[in-house]
Amino acid sequence: MNRTAFLDRDGTLIWEPGPDHATPYQVSSLDDLRLLPRVLSGLRTLADAGFGLVMVTNQDGLGTEANPTETFEAVNAKLFETLASEGLAFADVRVCPHLPEDDCACRKPRTGMIDGLAYNPAASVMVGDRDSDLAFAENLGVAGYRVTDYPDWAALAAAIVADTLGRTATVTRRTAETQITLTLALDGEGRYEGSVEHGFLSHLLHLFAAHSRMDLTIEATGDGVDDHHLIEDVGLVLGQALREALGDKRGLRRYGDALVPMDEVLCAAAVDLSGRFAFETDYAPVRDMVGELSTEMVPHLFHSLAVEAKMALHLRLLNPGRNEHHRIEAMTKAFARALRVAVEADPRAAGTVPSTKGSL
Ligand SMILES: [Mg+2]
Ligand SMILES: [Zn+2]
Repeated sequence: MNRTAFLDRDGTLIWEPGPDHATPYQVSSLDDLRLLPRVLSGLRTLADAGFGLVMVTNQDGLGTEANPTETFEAVNAKLFETLASEGLAFADVRVCPHLPEDDCACRKPRTGMIDGLAYNPAASVMVGDRDSDLAFAENLGVAGYRVTDYPDWAALAAAIVADTLGRTATVTRRTAETQITLTLALDGEGRYEGSVEHGFLSHLLHLFAAHSRMDLTIEATGDGVDDHHLIEDVGLVLGQALREALGDKRGLRRYGDALVPMDEVLCAAAVDLSGRFAFETDYAPVRDMVGELSTEMVPHLFHSLAVEAKMALHLRLLNPGRNEHHRIEAMTKAFARALRVAVEADPRAAGTVPSTKGSL
């Protein structure tokens, strides 16, 4: 599982009895089972955002008279039934049944309970109500959220989605000539998925995702006349998605550059997310075609992208080399690597728009 929401149970998803209750801090009967405000709505939001839900709960002395397994299971069964009515389910349930004095490896904030579970720390979160839950988050290397910091679960889930998926945009463009749907996530892992009705363009988009470390999902079909419309429109849609995902560019580096060799070819790329369009290149194709790609469409692709992204993009072949395929790959990689730097957070400019004008 990739994107995971680790969720404490008691005091996080369901009400936890207080110190004066007959069974302090323990949900000991179904009568005590109450969902916290807007849990279902919040979990729906997380599931829709692609989070797998994993319960992580310390159950002090589970299986003893003080905390019978049957009660724990009955409360879980009722909870799962309620979630199922909303189409929600836990992908996994992890429990520490020990007492603090057992000094086990699975009691939060230790991480033994999730041994063997694959998750991507950069894309995952932990939600709990206690300090030990937040320490657990830190030990997992994921962002931690305390449920009581939010008015209800809907607000909490919205904050999680904004924090973890904030820099994402989906753009759909349908014309008589092309049909394109593209999702771009700036803070991705370089994943490329989908299908593009043009092998070489798909190859370039794959390189772009891998070297920018953005996640790119695309479905694109063209009119089949030639590759002109498809390549131009993919450039426009990618540029638009980039602009939308960037938002107000607060706290970003804004500028990025890269120097990329591809065998004998050496390409320099420089990007400024300036809010204004410029595209300059000295690329001069020698051959008309590389495979099914019309080489004249390569600068057109970057041009279309920069127009919609409202960026300045410079691509210079410091050594144009001898191979058309190498030149095109070098430009694509150099652009992707320059962009990767430009969209990164600048810790020294956190919260500020990187322009003396105050907007970009
Ligand atoms: Mg708790
Ligand atoms: Zn344990």
